[in-house]
Amino acid sequence: MPSLARARAALKRVFGYDDFRPGQGEVIATVLAGEDVFAVMPTGSGKSMCYQLPAVVDGGLTVVVSPLIALMRDQVRQLEGLGIAAATLNSANDETEGREAWQRLVRGDLALLFVSPERLVGDGLVARLSEAGVRRLAIDEAHCMSQWGHDFRPEYRQLGRVREALGGPQVVALTATADRATRADVAAGLFARAPRVFVHSFDRPNLNLRFAPKDRPRRQIEDFLRGRRGVSGIVYAASRSRTERLAEALAAEGHRALPYHAGLDQGLRSRHQDVFLQEDGVVMVATVAFGMGINKPDVRFVVHADMPGSVEAYYQEIGRAGRDGLPADTLTLYGLDDMALRRRQIDDKDIDAERRRIEHRRLDAMIDLAEAATCRRQAVLAYFGEERGPCGRCDLCRSEAKLYDATIDAQKVLSAVVRTGERFGARHVADLLRGEATEAIRRHGHDRLKTFGAGAGRSRSAWITTTRQLFAAGALAAASDEHGGFRLTPRGEAILFGRERISLRSPEESAPRPRGARRA
Ligand code: ADP
Ligand code: ZN
Repeated sequence: MPSLARARAALKRVFGYDDFRPGQGEVIATVLAGEDVFAVMPTGSGKSMCYQLPAVVDGGLTVVVSPLIALMRDQVRQLEGLGIAAATLNSANDETEGREAWQRLVRGDLALLFVSPERLVGDGLVARLSEAGVRRLAIDEAHCMSQWGHDFRPEYRQLGRVREALGGPQVVALTATADRATRADVAAGLFARAPRVFVHSFDRPNLNLRFAPKDRPRRQIEDFLRGRRGVSGIVYAASRSRTERLAEALAAEGHRALPYHAGLDQGLRSRHQDVFLQEDGVVMVATVAFGMGINKPDVRFVVHADMPGSVEAYYQEIGRAGRDGLPADTLTLYGLDDMALRRRQIDDKDIDAERRRIEHRRLDAMIDLAEAATCRRQAVLAYFGEERGPCGRCDLCRSEAKLYDATIDAQKVLSAVVRTGERFGARHVADLLRGEATEAIRRHGHDRLKTFGAGAGRSRSAWITTTRQLFAAGALAAASDEHGGFRLTPRGEAILFGRERISLRSPEESAPRPRGARRA
């Protein structure tokens, strides 16, 4: 295809790259052939090139819609550095910047104009762009269009209308994270005619996938990092204060660890980011605020100190490791507290019932992944709509996690939950089953229950694990009034009354190591 040959020459001449990344060439050839394209490609696969290169080769104006102002600015800076005429219009533009971008646009000097969705759907911009003539509309992070996606942006909903108002230019939509429902939703809302759809494999064979139940998270993270001094990595934590405490603890262990979260002063934040990007061996301890658009090829590990809220978020975050294709390790810690916290966060959100249902379902998928019994990679890829066999390399493939018929253990837990009035947490249930007459057990008279001591033969952590697995399996749900308490679901009742059996991963594989001293 001659246009592809031309594209490859431009790739070398303008960008300095020898060849396309896997999947890129096909997408670019299709874009150059003038077809509408919907490309689903993993993070780091080089999606931006799919509209940057055609803009260079073709001439005409490409309008790029992108949700993050910082990201747009970075891209514009990079492109200008390569001698490509690019500018951005967004809410953070000062007036001169905006005016200058506009003048270049009207003169026909711009190849790429990056706009934020808010700006694009706002006052009169579309009409003016339409007058100037838009050859191509590129939608970055196209999953933001869909209610099903994890980053829904209402302004993205209007992009179909924008396309029409622009006189129907070619559309190139790109996203890294889309399950099937999201994909269908995006395609329906954006395109006038069926686009060519490209789904690049999401498999990142160089990423090691590993989960571990939370035991003593600080210790677990320190252990993980011990052999990794001097390599760059990211530790994600769920709260701002936790990133700061963890960064301090890791620094005390001799790591070059820096905190990063949206509450830090802007200057400090960008300083930490620069240090991470420019120097070797820095550990960024961050909230999810860190990462979108971070382009460091040699991040060697990603650790989740707390369980992410969805499989999309999980995969996107670990996907920041190993972009150079060399092996990289990931470790995700998860515990009951995470699961309950995420549930509560969804319940506390000011959203409609349908949206809440979607979010709970996405959380369920993440919990299922954490508690998965067979190949971890297979489970992740299945979530993204790819079917394949076990990978043989993930933590589960290697450990051959054993399933056992856990119906009787489950019934003990469920019965303890019912008999204590459906308001206590996993630790209390474990103490009860083991027959430990703790202060709380005595105060509530739980040492007089029939289930008291019914599970003395198993360790406390084994009972906590079973409780967590029952929660993950949807047999238990969070009690609404009490923190950390459980109630039975219909599935829980079916198991308790012997109408349904349940298999669980053997707790000896997934349980936290038993420890001597007990801490709350
Ligand atoms: P994505 O948006 O898919 O996460 P980017 O578009 O940000 O990925 O690209 C990731 C990195 O890969 C960028 O640094 C980009 O310059 C680089 N890149 C893109 N295409 C190629 C290529 N053909 N060869 C080498 N590097 C590339
Ligand atoms: Zn596997």
